[in-house]
Order: sequence, then structure tokens, then C-alpha cells
Amino acid sequence: MIFTVAIDGPAAAGKGTISRAVAGHFGFGHLDTGLLYRAVGAKVLAGAEARAAARSLVPDDLQGDTLRTQAVADAASQVAVDPEVRAALTSFQRRFARAEGGAVLDGRDICTVICPDAEVKLYVTASPEVRAERRYQELVARGTDVSRDEVLDDVRARDARDMARASAPLVAAPDAIVIDTSEMDVGQAVQAAIDEVARVLGPRGG
Ligand code: C5P
Repeated sequence: MIFTVAIDGPAAAGKGTISRAVAGHFGFGHLDTGLLYRAVGAKVLAGAEARAAARSLVPDDLQGDTLRTQAVADAASQVAVDPEVRAALTSFQRRFARAEGGAVLDGRDICTVICPDAEVKLYVTASPEVRAERRYQELVARGTDVSRDEVLDDVRARDARDMARASAPLVAAPDAIVIDTSEMDVGQAVQAAIDEVARVLGPRGG
């Protein structure tokens, strides 16, 4: 079966958790497309040129905890404004989306640019304050020394850059189902996404 679930939304809205849970529930593959941009960002921080780094990414580049740092997230959102960097990452994402067995992709432009024909399109969002608080708790749990204000500033700065850029800006596709997780717990948000996929899959998915 070829079946794509495309999930977009701003930083720390819960896309990753929802995507992994949906993929696990239906037995689909999962691609966190932010990791592609983070891997390019990390290479730039290490001295590489962004376009060359994007063209030469290999699966091993997507491994490792350093990709989860704030510095790499910032570098990722800076390289992500370049249309040539984005173009270099497109065909890999499209192949993943149409691989046999079903796929969940999450990112910023999956519903709008990468997979406009996805069978299910979701836009997962939450208020900046709620997202910053969740990211803050994650960072503290990982032992990062950071303040709430710094995290909120970073969330706002990345939102602004992701939404304002000319190439593939973050926006809800007109036909995406919006899941606002501000007042939901993880279980409720995951269930809302699973229900939508199950509705579209119908008898195919059981
Ligand atoms: O989702 P994550 O926080 O890992 O993404 C890091 C950055 O990569 C985002 O802030 C965004 O600028 C960029 N990105 C993108 N398009 C995607 C996924 C991520 O531009 N599909």
C-alpha cells in the first residue's frame, strides 16, 4: 500500500510525538524532515557550505544527539531559507513518502510543497507559550542550562523565520485538518491524529 500522512506545524507543537505514534500504530515508516535541515545546519556549524552539505547528506548524518541542540536548530532554520538547500532535500523526502508500506513525514512544508497529494494532511499547532514551556521542560530534563525566556524567544524567532521566508514558508495547507494541542495532553493529540488517519484509510486500515 502507498499512503502518505503529511504533518506540518511550528517548533515544539507535538508533531514529532504524534508522527511517531501514528507511524507505530499503522506500521508506517516515519521521517522527521527537520532532521535533514538540522544535519545540514550542523555541517555548516562545522565549517561546511550549506548547499554542498545538503547535496551530500547520507543517512548516518541524521544520527546523534547533537542534532537536538538549540544551536543546531537555529542553524537549521537559517539554512532552510535557501531554496537550493530545500531543492536538494526534496527528492529524498518524496521517495520516502511514496515507499511501499505507508509513510508519515513531519516538517514545515510537507502538506504544501513536498506531498501536496498526501492522503492525510494535518497541521499540528499550539500557542507559542505552551510550545516554549514544553521545549523548556524537555531541555531541562536533558540537563541543558537554559531559562524559560530564552526558550520562548527562540520559539518566536524560529516561528518568525519559518513563516516569513519566501521559499516554502510554514503555513497550514487549506485542506489540512488543524489539531491545536494547546489544551490537549499527549494522548488526546495522538488519538485525534490516529482517528483522522483511520477515517481516511477506512476498511483498508482496519
Ligand atoms: O522540526 P525541527 O525543529 O527539527 O526543524 C528545524 C528547522 O528546520 C525548522 O525551524 C525549519 O526552519 C526547518 N525545517 C524546514 N522544513 C521542514 C522541516 C524543518 O524548513 N520540512
